[in-house]
Amino acid sequence: MAGLKYQAPRGTFDVLPAAARTRGRIEETAAAIFARAGYEPISTPSFEDTELFERGVGHSTDIVRKEMFTFEDKGGRSLTLRPEGTAPICRAYVEHGMQQLAQPVKLSYRGPFFRHERPQAGRYRQFHQIGVEAIGTESPLADAEAIGLFAELVAELGVPGVELRLGSLGSLAARQAYLDELKAHLRANEGDLSKEVRERIDANPLRAFDSDDEGTQAAMASAPKLVERLEGEDAEHFEEVRALLDAAGVEYAIDPTLVRGLDYYTRTIFSFVCDRLGAQSEIGGGGRYDGLIEQLGGRPTPAVGWAAGIERIALALEEEEAPAGRDVFVATAGEERSRQALAMVLAGELRKAGLSAEVDLGGRGLKGQLKHADRIGARRVLILEEAGAAQLRDMKSGEQRPVDTDNLIAEITEGES
Ligand code: AMP
Repeated sequence: MAGLKYQAPRGTFDVLPAAARTRGRIEETAAAIFARAGYEPISTPSFEDTELFERGVGHSTDIVRKEMFTFEDKGGRSLTLRPEGTAPICRAYVEHGMQQLAQPVKLSYRGPFFRHERPQAGRYRQFHQIGVEAIGTESPLADAEAIGLFAELVAELGVPGVELRLGSLGSLAARQAYLDELKAHLRANEGDLSKEVRERIDANPLRAFDSDDEGTQAAMASAPKLVERLEGEDAEHFEEVRALLDAAGVEYAIDPTLVRGLDYYTRTIFSFVCDRLGAQSEIGGGGRYDGLIEQLGGRPTPAVGWAAGIERIALALEEEEAPAGRDVFVATAGEERSRQALAMVLAGELRKAGLSAEVDLGGRGLKGQLKHADRIGARRVLILEEAGAAQLRDMKSGEQRPVDTDNLIAEITEGES
């Protein structure tokens, strides 16, 4: 593309109509699934106070340390383009007193998110997520329902090669003892760890499980695993989530090394991966975040949710949705203004009746209009002739018959049933 003066910024992309159709199908399928299960749409601003993410997502995460698009507004406030959706939704939950509503408050969202990551296939600086949150319940049923909705979405869309990985981080309090044990293991193996992991032994030891460094991976193979250390209510909660998924026939694999890139998770975490994708194989994931709302100044409120990447799902589907085609192209034989006006009026009537209809906007002669109609996939062409006469042409068979434009809808629908 050398020589082009303007291009979409690094890590961003244009969604052209063919891709937009696939994305539309993903979004509409998700919206229908969410609505049927009572998850109501919410949308929050594209940017928030920087502190919301620092506190919510966590100071030691990659997102906050390296990936946020942060800027100062003209009033000197530090703002950040949202890198994720859960902290803003929890902010909205507290701000609008949603704890007064019937609990749990079940919400769904979709929209653009921003992370300053190194771009590669499936990883962008502006990407789009769809997601759900169930706020105000500790019940393992909510975890199982959330996971079930994701599984339903994947099944309904027909995403191939998807696998669900499941883990648990335990509650924040119970995790402390484990983290001490893990830090001791990391220190004992410090020589094998990558520089980045070594520097974050205290700040974020769990992320060592996520490292793609070979030495670190070898050291982590013998590390103590949190799922194997769960006790009391944490163990029971996880057991219950698993039993519910088993009962619902949702397949999963327990992954003792599963961690997520955001600090707010507690207890259940999960990740849906797709074997059709390369390095960025996760199409979505989430978990429970029982401490987040309290951390943002609300009352202690348990919650669970997930987000999926629309681009990743589209990549996994690898399809190009065929254009919808046009029901009728209204062509004019001759260029009089009155005939063009009639074409517009009739196209309007067809559209009101639920058919797709287009007129020529290119100043073509009749022959050119028929060619154009064929190119855009019109099934029929209505040709307006002299003195109010009209013909309806079936583009597939080439057959043409006179029609009465005063009775157009009936002519079109009846003639073909
Ligand atoms: P997260 O919010 O990090 O839990 O990510 C949830 C999902 O969002 C991932 O599984 C991806 O599908 C998608 N995602 C996250 N970051 C990116 C990115 N930089 N580019 C594209 N998709 C992303």
